[in-house]
Amino acid sequence: MSRVLLKGGQVVTVDARDTLHPAADILVEQGRIAAIAPTIAAPADAEVIDLSGHIVLPGFIDTHRHSWQTGIRGVAADWSLLDYVRGIRMGYARAYRPEDVYISILVGLLEALDSGITTLCDFCHIMNSPAHADAALAAVREAGLRTRLHYGFYDVPLPQPAFADHAARLADAERIVRTFGAMPGLSELGVALTEAKLVSPAETAAEIGFARRHGLPITAHMGTLSTPDAVARLGADGLLGPDILHVHCNFSSDEELKMIRDSGGAVSCTPETELQMAMGFPVIGRLMALGMAPSLGIDIVSDYSGDMFSQMRIGLQVERALRNEPSLRAGKMPASISPGVREGLRFATVNGAAAMNRGVEIGSLEVAKQADIVALRQDGLHFLPPAPAVPAIVLQARASDVAFVMVGGAVRKRDGRLLGHDMARLRAAMLATQAHLASAPLPDPAETATSTGRAYASAIEDIVAS
Ligand SMILES: [Zn+2]
Repeated sequence: MSRVLLKGGQVVTVDARDTLHPAADILVEQGRIAAIAPTIAAPADAEVIDLSGHIVLPGFIDTHRHSWQTGIRGVAADWSLLDYVRGIRMGYARAYRPEDVYISILVGLLEALDSGITTLCDFCHIMNSPAHADAALAAVREAGLRTRLHYGFYDVPLPQPAFADHAARLADAERIVRTFGAMPGLSELGVALTEAKLVSPAETAAEIGFARRHGLPITAHMGTLSTPDAVARLGADGLLGPDILHVHCNFSSDEELKMIRDSGGAVSCTPETELQMAMGFPVIGRLMALGMAPSLGIDIVSDYSGDMFSQMRIGLQVERALRNEPSLRAGKMPASISPGVREGLRFATVNGAAAMNRGVEIGSLEVAKQADIVALRQDGLHFLPPAPAVPAIVLQARASDVAFVMVGGAVRKRDGRLLGHDMARLRAAMLATQAHLASAPLPDPAETATSTGRAYASAIEDIVAS
C-alpha cells in the first residue's frame, strides 16, 4: 500500500486532549497515520488528496447493529418491542433466505460506510442454516469496513429448523471459525449470545465457553425488561469478563453496571430503539457517573436511519434532558447543561474503540493508529456560515455531508461517491429481497415452532401491558 497525503482539512483528532488543528495535513503510510502537522511536504510517491474546506475526523464506531434487517427497512417505524419480537425475530427472520442475508448485510454495511462509519459490531442472529452463515461472512468480507461479525446462536423459530439442537449451532460456528481463519482481512469474528431466558444457563455458559476457547469477543443484549437481571446472573455464574460488550442495560441496576465496569467489560447504548421501544432511557449518564465510557450503536434500520449523526444527537440531548429534569422538578432552571458536544463525539469514536478493546488501534486520529479517516464537506446551506468543528459534527452535520472515507489507508469513498461497488447490481438484488420479504406471511403469534420461540413468546407476553 502506497502513501497518501490528505491536505489542508480542519482536523478534529478526538485524542486525549481533544486536539483540533484549524488546518493540517495527514500523511498515511502502510495504512497507518504517519504524521499530522500544519504542512507536510508530499513524498514523491504519495497520492495527494485535497481536503481543504472539509472537517476531518476519525471514522465512527458503531458498537451494535443487526445489518441483516436492512432488507426490511422501515417496517418497525411504529412498533413496540412486542411488535418487534413478533414481527421480526419470530416473523420476517423466518423468511430470510441466504441471498437475503447476503444482500441485506452488504447494503447495510455499505450504508454505514457511506455515512462515515468505519468500524461496526454486527450482531448477526439470522444464522438459520450453515448457508445463512456463509452468506453473512461473504457480505462482511466484501463490504470493506472493519466489521466484527458476531455469530448469533439465536434459534429463529422455523417450521423445519436446520440445526437439530443448540450443540449443532455451536458446531456450525466452529466451522465458520475454521473457514474464517484462512481468510484474514479487515473483518473479524465474534459471538452474539442468545438472550437469557431463551436458553438455559448451561447453554449460555456453552456459548461463552465457545467464544473464550477461540479467543472471540462476545456481545449480548442485556438488562432489558425481559431480562432485567441478566448481568447479575452472569456475574453469579462467574462468566463476566473484559471480552463482553453489553448492549442496552437499561434495566440493569447500578450494582450490575459496576459489575460490568469491574469485569473490564463495556456497554453499547442504542438511544433511538431504547426510547421508541419502551426499553427505558439510555444509560449514558449512569455509565459516566461510574467512570465508564458509553459507546453508541445504531441497532436496526428496520426502524430508523443507519447513520451515527442521529444517534449522537439523540443520545446527547436525551442525556441532557435527564440531567435537567431534577432542577425542573424543583421549579428551577439549570444554570448550565452537560454533557457537551465533545463528549457526544467521544461516544461515537474513541469510546466505541475502547468498548471493542481496540482503543490502541482505532477511534482517534493519532500517529501510529490505523488510518480510519472521514471528511465532511461544508458546502451546504446548513454550513453557511460554518459552525465550530465539533458542534458542527455532533449537532449540525448530516450523513450526506460525508464526502471522503478511508479505512486502514484504503480510500473507500471520494468526492461523495463510494468506490468499488456495482450499485446497479446491489440495487437490483436489494429490491428483489425486499419484495420477497414483503410477501412473507407474518407469523401467527401462537405458532412458535422451536423451544426458543416458545420461550421468547412467554418471556415477552408475561410482561407486556395490554
Ligand atoms: Zn440489538
